[in-house]
Amino acid sequence: MPRPISAVIHLQNFTHNLSVTRRHIGASKIWSVMKADAYGHSIKHVWKALSSTDGFAILDLHEAILLREEGWTGPILLLEGFFQQDDLKVVDQYQLTTSVHSDWQLDAIENATFTAPISVYAKLNSGMNRLGFSPDKYADAVKRLSSMSNVSSVTLMTHFANSDLTTGTDLPHQRIKPFIDHNYPVCIANSGATLWHPKTHYDWVRSGVILYGASPSGKWQDIADKDLRATMTLRSQIIGMHYIAAGESIGYGSKFTASQPMKIATVACGYADGYPRHAPTGTPVWLNGQRCALLGAVSMDMLTIDVSECQEVSIGDEVELWGKNLPIDDVAQAAGTIGYELMCALAKRVPVLYEE
Ligand SMILES: *Cc1c(COP(=O)(O)O)cnc(C)c1O
Repeated sequence: MPRPISAVIHLQNFTHNLSVTRRHIGASKIWSVMKADAYGHSIKHVWKALSSTDGFAILDLHEAILLREEGWTGPILLLEGFFQQDDLKVVDQYQLTTSVHSDWQLDAIENATFTAPISVYAKLNSGMNRLGFSPDKYADAVKRLSSMSNVSSVTLMTHFANSDLTTGTDLPHQRIKPFIDHNYPVCIANSGATLWHPKTHYDWVRSGVILYGASPSGKWQDIADKDLRATMTLRSQIIGMHYIAAGESIGYGSKFTASQPMKIATVACGYADGYPRHAPTGTPVWLNGQRCALLGAVSMDMLTIDVSECQEVSIGDEVELWGKNLPIDDVAQAAGTIGYELMCALAKRVPVLYEE
């Protein structure tokens, strides 16, 4: 018998979440963001469930090549652009759209030999200060790109640092507005802006985490009214049970000490499975239709939960660490992180089932 942990990927929920996303954006098109191997879900297994998208946005060239080999013939956007001159051969061969954020990339595109001109996304640094041309250099970069015979179309792009906040897109939106005219398509909205800032939708949105049923803000309550559904359930089983007396402690570092007699259960899931080691006592875990509390430190392969209030509980009972019944955002929030990180961190050793 294998260890009783597994992840279930709910493919139909991708299709559902994509249609929820479409309802928010009118006639705008969607780049479905699948970087980090589809936020830990596996591009290879999930892309077909999203194949009614308008395009896929990824990071690594090998992700783009995989999509082409899998049969996707639509647009593919390299969110971070190409990393060296040589990468442009792949951009050309696989007909990729690339973002352009630095001067050296302008020279590289100018000097490359393509079988057909390429589409580019010119990235403005609107205040996040990660990638992009500064506002004073942006007009020149866009002009230079659009004059290149190697370039067939230029789209204006920027990225928001605070799209989960009510006024979080105001300043960066103001900074790109002077460059927006009818000559260039515009693509600036991520998931937060897709849900909460309709004025930023323009021609294309780039939606990631909402396709995976998690909240761009990290708080599930913020998307509770959106009918987004979890795409990943992490589940395991109870493999041990104990009654402990007041004064007894649990796990490494004895981080939790019982103040009264308790019934506790050990679950076959630990940080080597991708469960956050920093999840503190009280982090919710789903068991037999109710939330139980994590107790003490998460070990490499196991964690412990309080089942004192559970009537019937026995070894072999299924436990949900996050997923259909327990939003990943709630677990992430308790552990001081965001759903994005937990999805991406699902460990290789966890067997994954893809459910139609
Ligand atoms: C990751 C990423 C996105 C998608 O972000 P979500 O918050 O998951 O929607 C959009 N644009 C860029 C440039 C990104 O890197």
